[in-house]
Order: sequence, then C-alpha cells, then structure tokens
Amino acid sequence: MKRYTLERAKKEMLLYGESMFIRGLTGGASANISVRTETGFIITPTNSCIGFLDPERLSVLDEQGEWVSGDKPSKEFALHKAFYDERPDANAVIHLHSTYSTALSCLDVEEDKLFAPLTPYLYIRLGQVARVPYFEPGDLSLAKAVQAVAGKTAGVLMANHGPIVAGDDLAKAMYGIEELEEAAKITLLLDGKKVNPIPPEGIQTLLARYGHLSSK
Ligand code: ZN
Repeated sequence: MKRYTLERAKKEMLLYGESMFIRGLTGGASANISVRTETGFIITPTNSCIGFLDPERLSVLDEQGEWVSGDKPSKEFALHKAFYDERPDANAVIHLHSTYSTALSCLDVEEDKLFAPLTPYLYIRLGQVARVPYFEPGDLSLAKAVQAVAGKTAGVLMANHGPIVAGDDLAKAMYGIEELEEAAKITLLLDGKKVNPIPPEGIQTLLARYGHLSSK
C-alpha cells in the first residue's frame, strides 16, 4: 500500500487510539502507536494517553527516526523502528499493556507453548507470536531483541511488559493486537481445563498459508 500522508496518519491514530482506550485495552499513558509516513514516521508523544491525542502534538520523525516536530516522542520508538526496519510492508505498529497478553508474557513456560493452539485467527493475523526476555523499558537491548524476531512474526510479547504488533496499516495492526489479547485471554481462561486444541498439522497449515514472514 501507499505510505500514509501525515494528515491521514494523524486522523487514524486519533480514531484507533480512542477506540482502544475506550475498550480498556490499555490505561493511562502506557500505550504507543506509530505510523510510517511518506516523510518518515509519526508516533504518540512520551507520557501521552492514546484516548486523548492532540493531532498537533503527535511526534513527527524523519526517515532516520530523528525528531522533527510535535512533542517529544515516546521512548519506546526504538521498538517500533525495529519492526519497520525488518518489515518493509509494515506501515503501523501498536504497543499496549493489555492485561491478558501481559499476564501471559510473565508465565514460566517455553515460548512455543505460551499460547494454547485453540483459535486460528491468532496465526492468521500474526503468524507464530514470539516472546523476548525482560529488559528495562527504553533499554536498547529490548529493541535489539525485538528486531531479532520481527522478520519472522508480526506479533511479539515482551516478557513482563506487554505486546507489540505490526501491520500493513493501522486497522491490521489493531486487529492483530486485539486477536493477540483475545487468544491470551482464552489461553488463560482454559488453563488446566480439558480442551480440544487445533492439531499441530492444522497450525502448520495456517503458518504456511499466512506465516507473516518479512518480505525483506
Ligand atoms: Zn510499554
């Protein structure tokens, strides 16, 4: 798709931000949203709440990620940039502290066993979601860890922190992070119960068909 104009990016960031905030997907100033534009990037400012964004204060960055105008960008921009660098088709990234995904990120289980293979849309929207170890927010090691897996999946759980998801556009990124949150909720709701999972070959078929590998 064509890159976003600044005008369209601002309009959609306000709409999608408000929608996710109203639905309780994240509280306070915990989330950040970014878009790749014709001239670089635009991201929610540091300490801003996605429910009440002011289009004039959104942080505009150039192609290298240097701050051009608006308020000071979120310190988590490096995480977003990790996705943009590895996924040329990605034009939007969303990071939330949504409850169930964050809860799942804290579990002491192997990465490939984090999500119970119960519903197909997680794999359709994001591929095989990865988890990266805990690092202090803003630590460049965290961005490096995300960058190492961002080419293989459109969704990453940062341990003891929360999810981050890329999409071709903001709608796809939002659908992806919503699906991740629902899959985490279902996994936790059914933990310890007898379930009928999707068989491994069913998951492999979904991953082969949708995969979400980078086009790089
Ligand atoms: Zn965060």
